Amino acid sequence: MRKKINRRFMGIAISAIIVITFIMTAVFYVQLKKQIFSDLEIVANLLIDEENYESPVRNLRITLIDTDGTVLFDSVADAVTMENHLNRPEVKEAMQHGCGKGIRRSDTLSESVFYYATRLENGQVLRVGKETNNVFSVLVPVFTIIIGVVILLSAICLVISHYLTTDILRPIGEMAGDMDHISEIDIYPELVPFAQKIRSQHEEILSSANIRQEFAANVTHELKTPLAAISGYAELMEAGLVNEKDIKHFSGEIRKSAARLLTLINDIIKLSQLDSGNEKEVLEVVNLAEIAEESVEMLSLGASKNQVEVTYEGVKNADIKIGKELAQELVYNLIENAIRYNKQGGKVFVRVRKEDCGVTFEVEDTGIGIPLEHQSRIFERFYRVDKSRSKALGGTGLGLAIVKHICTLTDGKLTLDSEIDRGTKIMITWENEAG
Ligand code: ADP
Repeated sequence: MRKKINRRFMGIAISAIIVITFIMTAVFYVQLKKQIFSDLEIVANLLIDEENYESPVRNLRITLIDTDGTVLFDSVADAVTMENHLNRPEVKEAMQHGCGKGIRRSDTLSESVFYYATRLENGQVLRVGKETNNVFSVLVPVFTIIIGVVILLSAICLVISHYLTTDILRPIGEMAGDMDHISEIDIYPELVPFAQKIRSQHEEILSSANIRQEFAANVTHELKTPLAAISGYAELMEAGLVNEKDIKHFSGEIRKSAARLLTLINDIIKLSQLDSGNEKEVLEVVNLAEIAEESVEMLSLGASKNQVEVTYEGVKNADIKIGKELAQELVYNLIENAIRYNKQGGKVFVRVRKEDCGVTFEVEDTGIGIPLEHQSRIFERFYRVDKSRSKALGGTGLGLAIVKHICTLTDGKLTLDSEIDRGTKIMITWENEAG
């Protein structure tokens, strides 16, 4: 693009210079021709009557000056009344060097008189003066031509620039009009990175719009199920179709569905808060080790009912900038999963390590593991390997999406290591975080 613009500007400039040179040469040639003819006319008139200086030749003034400056003869004025001419520059010069020149403004102001003086053999000076329009009035007719040329050239340049600019901008317009087929357009190499950036942003926007749309559809679906259950049970009870002994069971189902709704709504709120990105500014430094240990204590009671043993192995202090709420959310979700997808008599190890390069949080279980083909997707919203198992155990399908979101927000690096029937290990490392 730079080359193209350069070439075109050079083209315009060079053509303008060439055109101006030609026109100016023509104008000055005409002017010079006029001048030469007028000089020739004077010479011819002089030759007709060599002796008679007094015969007035148009615009020509002849003066003869004596060695002491006295004017002996003048073809225009009376020599006797004329003042001493010794100090006139052209006369002075002629007396000293043999010839002299001078230009003076005449009385009429609009005219200039050009003098040429030459020293005769007897020491007297013969001066010839020619009255001409002054330099500006000589140039006036030329000026009109120059102005005409300038206007014409400007108009031509305007048209050419308009055409060139449109031509230069055309690929950019085409690119903006059709982002999907940039490679097929003859685009400037300088714009390729822009085009790629815009296209990738375009795709990102589209995919995030898709994700949102899909999320909204999933949310609706997930909320509908427990709500339908609640209203179904309530309708039956209202109609008096439920025996006294079943009422307890039905109320229990209503309570469970309501609880499920609450957890879902809480998770959705959490995710949308994380999405809005406001959390980052308020993140305070917390002791992750303490939070992890407390969580282990709280969750091991429930875990022991399923014969799952949860142990904390790790340091006592490990500060990272994550904020208490997010830290709890992260730790809880991972430990809950490790308990939920475990086997009877299984184990869960929670570790916090402090290393030179940063802090590592790790949850390892001896549970059912995650099949390889699902491993890349379990961090997606509402993605579950076994939907019915997850639901039966109170999962929302949002836990790992929240975990991943928190990691992105706090610059934590997340790694997953899992094998079917042997267990899962999820590790998050915060490199050189505040500590
Ligand atoms: P859920 O609420 O269903 O647990 P998550 O987002 O927390 O949702 O997890 C998504 C899916 O990943 C789970 O449904 C489960 O299939 C799988 N998963 C998560 N953690 C583990 C684990 N520790 N062991 C085996 N599978 C797991």
